[in-house]
Amino acid sequence: EEGTKDGRGLSMFIYDRNDGGVTVRRIENKMGIKGSPTCELVFKNAKAELCGSRKLGLIKYVMALMNGARLGIAAQSVGVSEAAYREAIAYARDRKQFGQAIIEFPAVFEMISLMKAKLDASRSLLYETTRFVDMYKAYEDIAKERSLEPEERAEMKAYQKLADAFTPMAKGMSSEFCNQNAYDCVQVHGGSGFMKDYACERIYRDARITSIYEGTTQLQVVAAIRHVTTGTYLHQIEAYEAAEIAPELEPLRDRLKAMKAAYVKAVETVTATKDNEYIDFQARRMVEMAGHVIMGHLLLNDATRNESFRQSAEVYINFGEAEVAKHAAFIERFNPEMMAAYRK
Ligand SMILES: Cc1cc2nc3c(=O)[nH]c(=O)nc-3n(C[C@H](O)[C@H](O)[C@H](O)COP(=O)(O)OP(=O)(O)OC[C@H]3O[C@@H](n4cnc5c(N)ncnc54)[C@H](O)[C@@H]3O)c2cc1C
Repeated sequence: EEGTKDGRGLSMFIYDRNDGGVTVRRIENKMGIKGSPTCELVFKNAKAELCGSRKLGLIKYVMALMNGARLGIAAQSVGVSEAAYREAIAYARDRKQFGQAIIEFPAVFEMISLMKAKLDASRSLLYETTRFVDMYKAYEDIAKERSLEPEERAEMKAYQKLADAFTPMAKGMSSEFCNQNAYDCVQVHGGSGFMKDYACERIYRDARITSIYEGTTQLQVVAAIRHVTTGTYLHQIEAYEAAEIAPELEPLRDRLKAMKAAYVKAVETVTATKDNEYIDFQARRMVEMAGHVIMGHLLLNDATRNESFRQSAEVYINFGEAEVAKHAAFIERFNPEMMAAYRK
């Protein structure tokens, strides 16, 4: 639209390819996901029809589409993480060095158990996010048939907000974990992992796209940060703290409470500056801190329901606790002037 400068000026159009005016530039030669051809479409004098209302193209329609797609990429990331874990554990059990299977070496069993913990945490966050999405969409469907009661409407809004907050977190965290798992999978394979003979080489290349398309990790942070500053994550963390869990898991939950306190302090320190550029600078650290606490709680819930998640809950909380401490220390020692060293 004339006079607009950002996404709020964009509208959405429907195009019928029978009308001509579009060409495929070429099939791209990609690093990974070679089973799915990608091409750029070039529109030139292509007749199109307005879809929906003017100016809502990006901010309403594409955002709705993209939130669904982001959930899809979070699921894809869980799938790639699972493949990486399976390849790594099978190889580590099979490969012998110095008279023993390499899985017996602490350096290797730590890598593999951490892969499993990140995988279980990603899957749990994905399921929690899809639950929130299902809940508000169910209400949306009901609202097409009858008007919602005030408490139903309030519940729908609450789930919608949680879906908005958890979708970028699930996409961001699981795609990064999937890349880390693919990296470790190659590492477990040693030199063989660098050869095309093993599946891990393809997994490594296929993982790379997950933190890029449907919005890079940095863009997921842009979407997630307002839920750090407005308290959506904190509110949900407090709901997890009040949930019933197996009594023997309480010591792990106490550690999550300490991690939450570090998160709250870091957020207060950063937001107190009222400097938006500085908040952006520290945003990823804060979103990740919230993510580690949330995933820790979700794994405790899983471990309460099923014993098989206990190991992952413990390993994940060991890992997340150290990550939260690292981010907290960085934020504690930093101030907005120190950004100067990072500017080009
Ligand atoms: C295999 C493949 C398939 C694809 N399929 C589709 C498709 O089907 N449909 C479609 O529409 N698109 C598709 N894309 C495009 C894809 O969604 C974009 O490439 C992706 O979202 C990143 O955008 P960009 O390439 O413009 O990078 P840029 O936006 O130029 O980003 C470059 C760097 O700058 C950072 N950056 C940019 N803006 C910000 C910001 N505001 N804050 C912080 N950091 C920022 C990014 O994180 C990144 O590190 C596909 C891409 C690939 C590679």
